[in-house]
Amino acid sequence: MDTVSPDVRSRTMRAVKGKNTTLEMKFRQALWSAGVRGWRLHINSLPGKPDLVFSAARVVVFIDSCFWHGCPAHLRMPSSNLNYWEAKIARNRKRDKVVTKELKTQGWTVLRFWEHNIRENLEKCVFKVNRIVTKQVSR
Ligand SMILES: [Zn+2]
Repeated sequence: MDTVSPDVRSRTMRAVKGKNTTLEMKFRQALWSAGVRGWRLHINSLPGKPDLVFSAARVVVFIDSCFWHGCPAHLRMPSSNLNYWEAKIARNRKRDKVVTKELKTQGWTVLRFWEHNIRENLEKCVFKVNRIVTKQVSR
């Protein structure tokens, strides 16, 4: 398994701390530029506290950190406390599944983007949200 130095790891973790990450703001700006409107942020009453909530369209969006959510392409385990991190990330992934299922049961369409999708294919992600939200609002 790949590992990273404690230095890289702490940088990674700092980067994903807190809800208003640069990446999330970049995504919101891109959505806005594309004419997407009507979202609210981090609604506490919803399972998993989705990053964006389009109430009218019944669409929720999550931006999943490659590290915390265990992206298969980019997960690099810290070299120390391996067991701890493996267990933690496994728990996060399990919780993501439960949250997604619960939201779907409540009638929400759940869109999950990996951090790397936003970084590498921002326009594609924006297009997808736009298409689904527009379709469901005009339903
Ligand atoms: Zn990734």
